[in-house]
Amino acid sequence: MFCKNCGQELNDGMQFCPNCNTPVEANAPIEPAQPYAQQPYPAQPSYGAPQPPYGMPPVSQEPASLGLRFVCWFIPIVGIILYFVKKDEKPVYAKQCLKASVISIIVNTVVVVLFYGVVFAMIGSTMY
Ligand SMILES: [Zn+2]
Repeated sequence: MFCKNCGQELNDGMQFCPNCNTPVEANAPIEPAQPYAQQPYPAQPSYGAPQPPYGMPPVSQEPASLGLRFVCWFIPIVGIILYFVKKDEKPVYAKQCLKASVISIIVNTVVVVLFYGVVFAMIGSTMY
């Protein structure tokens, strides 16, 4: 059978299209013995947050706090580690940490290059 949304070929027993995540209309009846085993993800605890669309992975849109981005800014390695730890669970949070770290590295590099440029220019001007 094929996905009715995108035409991706589907194996028998697939609940969701691997290409576009559209729920597959089951032609064969689902085995009643294991109703919960068919769910692709465990039930989410309801804490008031908007639930992701059915069939999509549970992804937190929680942003990184200003204080955390501050830490990433001053200690870029923290942001890079946080990115790899949190990128699946909290992509928004992880990207903000990574972005703060990358900007910090770039700015620090530019400052150091400018600093040495000025120092060498001053040394050069005093020698001649
Ligand atoms: Zn599809």
